[in-house]
Amino acid sequence: MAEVRLVGVTKVFGNTTAVAKTDLEIKDGEFLVLVGPSGCGKSTTLRMIAGLETPTEGDIYIGERKVTHLEPKDRDIAMVFQNYALYPHMKVFDNMAFGLRLRKVPKQEIEVRVKEAAEILGIAHLLDRYPKQLSGGQRQRVALGRAIVRHPQVFLMDEPLSNLDAKLRVQMRAELIKLHQRLKTTVVYVTHDQTEAMTMGMRIVVMKDGIVQQVGTPKEIYNNPGNIFVAGFIGSPPMNFLKGVIEQQNGKVLFKTQGFTLNLPTTKVPIMASQEVILGIRPESLTIVNNDDKGACIPCEVEVVENIGSETIIHARTSGKEEVVIKTSGFEKAPQMGAAIKVKAWQGNLHLFDAQSGKCII
Ligand code: ATP
Repeated sequence: MAEVRLVGVTKVFGNTTAVAKTDLEIKDGEFLVLVGPSGCGKSTTLRMIAGLETPTEGDIYIGERKVTHLEPKDRDIAMVFQNYALYPHMKVFDNMAFGLRLRKVPKQEIEVRVKEAAEILGIAHLLDRYPKQLSGGQRQRVALGRAIVRHPQVFLMDEPLSNLDAKLRVQMRAELIKLHQRLKTTVVYVTHDQTEAMTMGMRIVVMKDGIVQQVGTPKEIYNNPGNIFVAGFIGSPPMNFLKGVIEQQNGKVLFKTQGFTLNLPTTKVPIMASQEVILGIRPESLTIVNNDDKGACIPCEVEVVENIGSETIIHARTSGKEEVVIKTSGFEKAPQMGAAIKVKAWQGNLHLFDAQSGKCII
């Protein structure tokens, strides 16, 4: 069993609460991603699981064992960092074997484990090279290899791909997923990159200011963000937010702001008339409709059109001076700058947040 549990974990550095009262259960064999902006406490959380920081309060369990005060070396974990920290004077083989030699693993066993990890990672032909003779991607594989040979119960990865260029990052992302499918070891992975989180995580933990905002599968978090922070953080380009108030007419619940009114889907959550709300619509949920469309639409004026081949990003502005970003596929039908357009979203794709608390209403 390599389930990881955090129970009421808090970490305070001087005046800063880096992580506040966090409860988290990472399942055996799960690939869990901690994501959030810089300073949200994700690395501190990982470092506490690793034993590199001690919680101010709370406990950490790996499997059945309480490890809160155990040394990192006694936790049966392996860490992969952003700077791979390979020993420059050691060949790849020795870099990968180093941790095993420290643990007095027999020589033959080391040979078998290093060769097996090198095969898995496609670096068997590089074992005789020094780190300086490797590309960035190859170095990252060696760093992963060094973790794999340990056969740990849990891999802890802190932004392991952020030193790689964009193309290699995408490639390594897929390789890490494949690696996890093969090894089925529990992984806790830290990134500030929401795309990385969405593509790699079986579940994602979104953090802000040391507090867990939401835990869920990528689909749950994308479709049902629990608050305005999560809604704005996950998705690219980010969700559009429009301020307005609730109106109720003939049993219908309406969102009203300067220039337009939209019907909201019915909800079990009580919404008060005149309640100040923020409407959230993802750029990919908006469609440009004919200007003579009589349905409930958002009229706006096009300011910038960005064509990136497979898709077009249109930046427009409502008469209330709020920005609306629209993502469409292809660029044949893209409107001109300055054009007056109308956009529409299916009711089921509308999100509504309370303007005061930021909590999701719909
Ligand atoms: P980044 O993406 O920038 O690495 P992060 O989400 O991983 O950020 P942490 O490194 O966990 O964030 O830091 C959380 C908060 O704790 C920050 O405000 C940071 O300044 C503070 N912090 C982290 N480590 C220490 C430390 N050793 N001493 C004092 N404050 C610290």
